[in-house]
Amino acid sequence: MYKDQKEQTYSLSNVFGSNVFDDTAMRERLPKLTYKALKQTIDEGIPLNPQVAEIVANAMKDWAIEKGATHYSHWFQPMTGITAEKHDSFISRTSDGKVIMEFSGKELIKGEPDASSFPSGGLRATFEARGYTAWDCTSPAFVKDSTLYIPTAFCSYNGEVLDKKTPLLRSMEALSKQALRILRIFGNTTAKKVITTVGAEQEYFLIDKDLYLKRKDLIFTGRTLFGAKPSKGQELGDHYFGAIKERISLFMKELDQELWKLGVLSKTKHNEVAPAQHEIAPIYTTANIATDQNHIIMDTLKKVALRHNLVCLLHEKPFAGLNGSGKHNNWSLCTDDGQNLLDPGKTPHENAQFLVFLCAVIKGVDEYANLLRLSAATPGNDHRLGISEAPPAIISIFLGEQLTDIMHQIENGNGGATSCKKGGKLKIGVSTIPNLPKDTTDRNRTSPFAFTGNKFEFRMVPSSASIAGANFMLNTIVAEMLCQIADRLEKAEDVTSEVQHILKEIVTNHKRIIFNGNNYSEEWIKEAERRGLPNIKSTVEAANALVEEKNVRLFEKHNILTRHELESRREILLEHYIKTINIEASTTIEIVNRQIIPAVIKYITIVADSVNAVIKTGLDADTYAQNEILKEVSSLLALLKKNVYDLENSLKEASELSVDTYGMAMFYKDNVYVKMSKVREVADKLETLVDEKMWPFPTYGELLFNI
Ligand code: ADP
Ligand code: MG
Repeated sequence: MYKDQKEQTYSLSNVFGSNVFDDTAMRERLPKLTYKALKQTIDEGIPLNPQVAEIVANAMKDWAIEKGATHYSHWFQPMTGITAEKHDSFISRTSDGKVIMEFSGKELIKGEPDASSFPSGGLRATFEARGYTAWDCTSPAFVKDSTLYIPTAFCSYNGEVLDKKTPLLRSMEALSKQALRILRIFGNTTAKKVITTVGAEQEYFLIDKDLYLKRKDLIFTGRTLFGAKPSKGQELGDHYFGAIKERISLFMKELDQELWKLGVLSKTKHNEVAPAQHEIAPIYTTANIATDQNHIIMDTLKKVALRHNLVCLLHEKPFAGLNGSGKHNNWSLCTDDGQNLLDPGKTPHENAQFLVFLCAVIKGVDEYANLLRLSAATPGNDHRLGISEAPPAIISIFLGEQLTDIMHQIENGNGGATSCKKGGKLKIGVSTIPNLPKDTTDRNRTSPFAFTGNKFEFRMVPSSASIAGANFMLNTIVAEMLCQIADRLEKAEDVTSEVQHILKEIVTNHKRIIFNGNNYSEEWIKEAERRGLPNIKSTVEAANALVEEKNVRLFEKHNILTRHELESRREILLEHYIKTINIEASTTIEIVNRQIIPAVIKYITIVADSVNAVIKTGLDADTYAQNEILKEVSSLLALLKKNVYDLENSLKEASELSVDTYGMAMFYKDNVYVKMSKVREVADKLETLVDEKMWPFPTYGELLFNI
């Protein structure tokens, strides 16, 4: 037993990161000076010299070949929201007709995929095919399925940003720059960089593959477009944190092993609220690596599921009436020497600094709430936000009792320190914060943006989307707030009293964003409206935040994205919305016309035949049940057909509209989508009446409770 355990521990530490060209591999494989130069690029952003790149490329190739790689791929994150890859082999011809394995510094640093078919939102015409990928050495390369994956940023021939990684990297730099200014004011002369740290918890569903293949809606849209409520759902709460079934447990074990090989610090796994729903959480790392690793997690979830004859659903709302899936994006700031800037700390000095960072977040979230809302906008998430299972579409901050009390003291204090249960006094008008335990008060699962002891947890993020969007928004707005504060403090004659003024001003002007109550309640919706907080209900309306003048100025000021790039992103989001609803509507029509209607007709025929058969016996038997069924099912069938016609007409109308993309997206939301829901309503009712053996695809009960 003891020996076994020892062997297991040993192999895990051996396996972890074994397929990653990480710091250990670099140190081992690179000449000392090359390693030092590369580290300087990674840590300090100093440009990489081509000779260094040449040596790194060669070492990386030798390492990858030892791991079984034959190809390399510049791995990038276009605006589709998923990753893209094109594989090239290392093969190269020699003058004597033989082949060798080669990989140059140039190939490592820059790639040129033909990129004409990626969404650009009008940034360029389709014939302008050139796109460049550029090596991001701050996220390590890795080997997967015989290919060396090199994380890269992606831009057009003219340098316009076409991906999700570039703005994230830029926002991390902007935030670091502004945070360092604050740290210097508070006397920190040693920190060289401030790092955004992120840990993203990922929710997902697992269903049996054989059943999945019988559902066109799942195949084409990732969610069920039909399905009556099963007799049992999640009401007993017996799945949440419940014992993990063997089939799932075997899947999770293999998932962990795959992730560990790729250097993903997979840590926590458990069952979630809805039946067939689960969660995985890695240990946090830098925002950039966390984003790349979240993509690796999503890909690996899907891949490993198939090996177990399961399908992993990452859609935000695969099943109506049950909880959907999201990501909890845990976010904080950390100096390169390991100080968490959102940790209240132990000394008054650190407390003042902490309060500045905390208030910067509060002000930023309030002033740019529509950008955060936008960062969580996908058509799938529209089904989730505000349906009493996920945070509402209203952005607010949960601070917990203790910090909220401190905010009151800041607002009401007149420069003098007030009393405090613990700790000394601080000359910024508040008592010092006692060393907060990690969980300061009870948890509040209903808040979209909760302070959790030493980090913020942004809970609106959609389960299927890249977390890059949420994090580059957060970084940028907080960078701006720190910039505004630093501008004032650097000029202040008395920094302590200026800090006091700033904090008081922020709390007074932005306390409306703080809400510790139940975000799912009706009262909060009304209260938020009274407070003037935006409640942006759909992706279509949320998209406008990208072109709001104030927001454009913000992104241009910090060199994150240009006006033109922001406009293109809005266009991409709206087009994606239209296409998604269009596919859902077409699938709805196909399933009703070709599967549901034929099945219902067969059932009606059997019932009608039964009536005739009974009458033929001449026994004067009662056909009341058959008659009732015939009447009810036939009239529902007629209504179903009528509703499908309405939906078809709505799609036709959409195709003939001459409006801009926003107008079209609005039409899809208010017209096509509404008609689609009416079709579903009738079909779901029919499902509860028709012989279950005749229903053309597996029901919710089968999909959710089959494993
Ligand atoms: P819970 O949300 O259930 O309380 P934890 O607090 O353990 O769970 O952490 C949730 C996630 O937050 C994990 O991915 C964890 O690594 C991450 N996390 C913890 N500290 C930080 C931090 N300073 N910055 C970013 N993420 C963090
Ligand atoms: Mg959490």
